[in-house]
Amino acid sequence: MEEMGERYYLHPYDYEFQARVIECRKTKKGWEAALEDTLFYPEGGGQPADTGVLGDVHVLDVHRKDDVIWHETDGFLEAGTIVTGKIDWERRFRHMQSHTGEHIVSGLIHRHYGYDNVGFHMGKEIQIDFNGPLTGEQIREIELEANRIVMRNEAVIETFPSAEELAVTDYRSKKELSGKVRLIEVPDADLCACCGTHVARTGEIGIIKILRHEKHKDGVRIYMKAGLDALDEIMVQCDENRKISAELSAETNKTHASVVRLKQEIEEKNRTIYAMTEMYLDTIIQETPDNAPLVCIMLEGISRQALGKLAERLLEEKHARVAAVLNRTQEDSCTYLICSRSVDLRSYVKPLNNALHGRGGGKPEYIQGSFQADEETIRRELQKVLGTI
Ligand SMILES: [Zn+2]
Repeated sequence: MEEMGERYYLHPYDYEFQARVIECRKTKKGWEAALEDTLFYPEGGGQPADTGVLGDVHVLDVHRKDDVIWHETDGFLEAGTIVTGKIDWERRFRHMQSHTGEHIVSGLIHRHYGYDNVGFHMGKEIQIDFNGPLTGEQIREIELEANRIVMRNEAVIETFPSAEELAVTDYRSKKELSGKVRLIEVPDADLCACCGTHVARTGEIGIIKILRHEKHKDGVRIYMKAGLDALDEIMVQCDENRKISAELSAETNKTHASVVRLKQEIEEKNRTIYAMTEMYLDTIIQETPDNAPLVCIMLEGISRQALGKLAERLLEEKHARVAAVLNRTQEDSCTYLICSRSVDLRSYVKPLNNALHGRGGGKPEYIQGSFQADEETIRRELQKVLGTI
């Protein structure tokens, strides 16, 4: 393998190397360089590429094209020179933990349920699609078993079997592959053809956490994290839950029940507010004369929905020609909703807004917005502009 430039297979724990530059060419974004040999992993099989440095230039991405590994760099490298390459080890190790973790979960699901991993993406989270459904309980069992395999610290075995051996071997990702096939085995969990980098022993993964799942086509999509990425996620989520628990004065393992109770309380209060608002509107309606040319009502602390309902009832039940309902938001400022069924209100928006430092607009049958003026001035202006139309 080494002469093919795939040193990362044979030495997945090396992160520093020296190699001769074969070619360096300009691209749209910068440059890309090919080396005689490299430890940089090119994006493939769902695993993102390595990043790092080659001499003084940064390696931003790595890809394979026609069997050549190209390092996308932000600087030029002279062909023929020897450069020292250094991959970002923290990032690579997280990828190794994630990739082996993904194999364990996919392998176990395949073993227990016969489903295939039909889509795999390693980004901020690992996302895997399976071509069959799983319940939350089944996924929880898989998660526990996967972590037991991590804790058993099994060796992750890499082999390059012959074509004859492969023909009689049952493994995942069995495709018509040309050239040497590399198999990655995790005892009691998985055997899969793979081109990615893996940890040497499962214990190095540390933890596998399935975050959530959802229905996807006829199967299920699982979101998970492994290793340091999983630990980061757990720390963030624990912190978040601790803050929620403090806000609710609930124990950290009882926050959900507490939120459910809180939501019920809010719903009950909303029902009470609704009933009281109805009674309030009934009183206003009873006190309003019939067939008035303009009804102007100023309220405070009422919802936009209730305001609309009141305006509607003034037109419908009291046959007001124009109904102006206002909701005071601050001293000398309020929102307004003005409705009519017989007058096109659009031409009155401008004079009202001008006189009352207002903003807003609307349709022929209603206008809405806000005024900045005291109640007396507002009533006077409304009467002047709308009282006699
Ligand atoms: Zn793989």
